[in-house]
Amino acid sequence: MKVILNGQLVERSEAKVDIEDRGYQFGDGIYEGFRIYQGCIFTFDQHIDRLFDSAELIDLAIPYTKEELKDQLTELITANQLGDGMIYLQISRGTQMPRNHVYSPDNHPVLMATSIAAPRDLAAFEKGLTAITAVDDRWLHCNIKSLNLLGNVLAKNQAAKAGADEAILYRDEDHVTECSHSNVFIVKNNTLITHPANNLILNGITRQTILKLAKENKVAIEERVFSLTELKQADEVFISSIMAEVTPVTTIDGEMIGTGVRGPLSTELEQYFIAEIEKTCGIQL
Ligand SMILES: *Cc1c(COP(=O)(O)O)cnc(C)c1O
Repeated sequence: MKVILNGQLVERSEAKVDIEDRGYQFGDGIYEGFRIYQGCIFTFDQHIDRLFDSAELIDLAIPYTKEELKDQLTELITANQLGDGMIYLQISRGTQMPRNHVYSPDNHPVLMATSIAAPRDLAAFEKGLTAITAVDDRWLHCNIKSLNLLGNVLAKNQAAKAGADEAILYRDEDHVTECSHSNVFIVKNNTLITHPANNLILNGITRQTILKLAKENKVAIEERVFSLTELKQADEVFISSIMAEVTPVTTIDGEMIGTGVRGPLSTELEQYFIAEIEKTCGIQL
């Protein structure tokens, strides 16, 4: 298995980073996840733009151009013969000694990328997931895809301990935000509702693609805050992420959502999503 480390394709076992790396000590860095379908990087431009946006928000200069990064990811896909899967890419602020909260302009950012083979989870897309609700106690810069994921990790493990697949987060009972690593949508009376893109959620590329497809297909959309009551009384609930696409949520805190099976709008949006992948990647799923 090959990985990318600082622009070079190397064997995973040879890719080492320094224990004085700020990513390791402070979680000082950012990351991105790219979805690969049959070797094609889906919505590459949107993901690479978000990576550069996250970098700018933490005052980190990425030492490669977007084109150079595309070439590196393409090299990785070829080397690992990746068909369906994902690429995880992270950039930390690099090595600095002695440990100091104040970062130095002399640091060299450390970039790494790994590939993970993963087919589309058709069973989950059809059958749906279970979720719990959990307090969103993360910081106020959730729009940055930061390496600091403890809030997300703890929420996801709270779900796992409760025997559920995902945690739907809320700031207070009138304010549902997103999930531990996905966005959440509700459907009420054929209107698609999701949290606005601000500092309290990570604006998923999948979220943006779904909203674009919904708009093109004349689905009514409201980007607004909704409550826990609206969530549980919704006709349909689904989550979105590069891996989840449009995955329905059938129970929340043990309560059935809608009819307990994937709803008509969730089904329709997943069909538009598949068509978008096929069109932009020039493939047949
Ligand atoms: C990455 C992420 C998402 C989903 O974003 P996609 O670009 O659609 O994969 C949603 N929420 C959080 C907290 C995330 O980290």
